[in-house]
Amino acid sequence: MNRIDPDFKEKLKPFGIGNWNECYHCGNCTATCPHTEEGFLFPRKGIRAVQMGLTESIHKNVDPWLCYYCGDCSESCPRDANPGELMMTLRRYLITKYDWTGFSRILYTSVPALIIAFILVAISIIGIGYTKNFNVNSIMEFGHQFELIAILSVAIIILLPNILRMLWFTLVKEKVRAPLLSYIIGFGDLILHMFTQKKTLKCEENRLQWFEHFILVLGYLILLFTTVFLNWFGTESIYVVFLGYIVGAVTFIITFLFIIRRIRKKSEISKYSHPSDWLFIVWLFLMGLSAFLVRVFIDLNIIGNHLWLYLLHLIVLAQWAVLIVPFGKWTHFLYRSFAIYIAKIKKEVLVKQRDKGIVTIVT
Ligand code: SF4
Ligand code: SF4
Repeated sequence: MNRIDPDFKEKLKPFGIGNWNECYHCGNCTATCPHTEEGFLFPRKGIRAVQMGLTESIHKNVDPWLCYYCGDCSESCPRDANPGELMMTLRRYLITKYDWTGFSRILYTSVPALIIAFILVAISIIGIGYTKNFNVNSIMEFGHQFELIAILSVAIIILLPNILRMLWFTLVKEKVRAPLLSYIIGFGDLILHMFTQKKTLKCEENRLQWFEHFILVLGYLILLFTTVFLNWFGTESIYVVFLGYIVGAVTFIITFLFIIRRIRKKSEISKYSHPSDWLFIVWLFLMGLSAFLVRVFIDLNIIGNHLWLYLLHLIVLAQWAVLIVPFGKWTHFLYRSFAIYIAKIKKEVLVKQRDKGIVTIVT
């Protein structure tokens, strides 16, 4: 049964811009969207669900994750209802729905809470520095261990249960019955899309954006691997040092370009920025830049006299690892990939039902 929440439109407002009431359902946006297909008709269907307060329909659908925000639909909308931004707004909302801790809802809807959380993390890192007498070697040793512990804890305690919740809302609760083989084979697609995001290429204008995004994801993952598993800040290997410099530079140069685009607001995709968008891009930039500078200072043998730089890097890293990765925009990386997996399974079921003459009403 689909319950109606008459206040849903109000509840959705903190997650993005809210002019979807302007929509008069001409259907231009769905006709324009290069990603919409049988069984996954968006963005108009999502707008209708929001206008009517059909929350369960929103929770069970993965449509918002299948949107790659090319902006074509917003450009073609005769009512300026901004369907592309609505998809983004729904993605933010769904992140908070999947999160079992409820913490992402607080961070997404309250800027003061967000600021307090960031300050608390910064104070904790300075406190840890104090307990280690601000000794550069001890703090760097702590920083290295922290990276590993943070990755494992966030993955096991937050992200894994949240993915299970997403599967619960979209597959289990929906009673989608597909052969076990579909679930297994689908994982190949999941991994492929997670790292390539190749569906972005369906949007003509997004080719450059796809390439930049691909290089950024690659650079970020290699930077993570280099610092955590190859101990970039502690290694003497010239190859590892060089690799770290390259991927560090890639990360902060590309994110810098993204920041400039968001400031200029020229394209549809960068017109509207929620605080979570700014946090994601600025912190990724700061991480790449501060990591790069830390290694430069190590190579110049002056990091001991400039411990502030490493502390700054550690603060940015900790805020990224315990706030942005588990509760913020970083989770798009995971949820979108799982959405493609879920959509593939649902589509298989839909096609089989259609072949058997069973008509499915998509709500
Ligand atoms: S194009 Fe605009 S008015 Fe038409 S259905 Fe889409 S959002 Fe609504
Ligand atoms: S922004 Fe692009 S991908 Fe997203 S719904 Fe609109 S047309 Fe489709």
